[in-house]
Amino acid sequence: MPIQEVAKIWMDGSLVDWKDAKVHVLSHALHYGSGVFEGIRAYDTPQGPSVFRLDDHIKRLYRSAHIYHMDIPYQPEELIGATKELVKANDLAHCYIRPLVYLGYGEMGLNPAGVPVQVSIAAWPWGAYLGEEALEAGVRIKTSSWKRNDQNSLPPAAKATGQYINSILAKMEAVNGGYDEAIMLNQHGHIADGSGENIFIVTDGKLYTPPLSDGCLGGITRDSAMTIARDQGFEVIEQSLVRTDVYHADEAFFTGTAAEITPVRELDDRTIGEGKRGPITKQLQETFFAAATGELEQYRHWLYPVN
Ligand code: PMP
Repeated sequence: MPIQEVAKIWMDGSLVDWKDAKVHVLSHALHYGSGVFEGIRAYDTPQGPSVFRLDDHIKRLYRSAHIYHMDIPYQPEELIGATKELVKANDLAHCYIRPLVYLGYGEMGLNPAGVPVQVSIAAWPWGAYLGEEALEAGVRIKTSSWKRNDQNSLPPAAKATGQYINSILAKMEAVNGGYDEAIMLNQHGHIADGSGENIFIVTDGKLYTPPLSDGCLGGITRDSAMTIARDQGFEVIEQSLVRTDVYHADEAFFTGTAAEITPVRELDDRTIGEGKRGPITKQLQETFFAAATGELEQYRHWLYPVN
């Protein structure tokens, strides 16, 4: 799906026209993947457009930058303000938001000392990542032949641009094979995450999801789903999972800012549970969307209205 253009992009401190948001071809990040980024969503709420868990996303952006010794030349509050300003300036009711911190133009050596750290934030309307119908019908996924980046090669705790080459390999393989998405294992054969989503299974009424130490990103939607599930009385266990745990589960679902909460109906051509969205998945999904769109007082603190 092509990006739907809007009027403005925030670039290094000011709003510029969409078509003018450009970088030099010798930018460090373009060659070496030396950038960190975030994916955030804003939803239409009774308080107007509100950014979902904006503070947590910005916090993760700084944590990613810290891993790569990148000094972001702004305070977190400034990027929070810039994000809100951008959504407002583009008159977006609901959208996807992409902050990017990257090494710009200056030096070509691998040592990034002396290369400027630049920041941009873009926003545009983006619907359900795995398809609108997938939110109800669920997706078919495949265990990737590509392993998730190892903790000691490219730390999965950082949401770094270059690391996504690993996810791209997995995503292409899955889609070319006729599946909707990939699930990636770590070097020990434990499930890490999807190419851009965390995974949960439901077995005998309990929820299980891999621990961060197995190489998944500390997803903010993962945390939202865990909070909602516990608030509703479910036990949520962070535990290493192997692919057969998913084959035998009653339900499975992905969480992610782009994918939101999407049921998984099949892994490696094995039907999961009844092969459709399960009742617990549905309940969590409905609560998640109600929280994100400002319908639930209990989760109002997750919302950052732009007005
Ligand atoms: N795992 C990976 C590899 C991801 O790229 C993402 C998307 N950021 C997630 C999990 C889900 O994280 P979040 O819920 O914060 O979007």
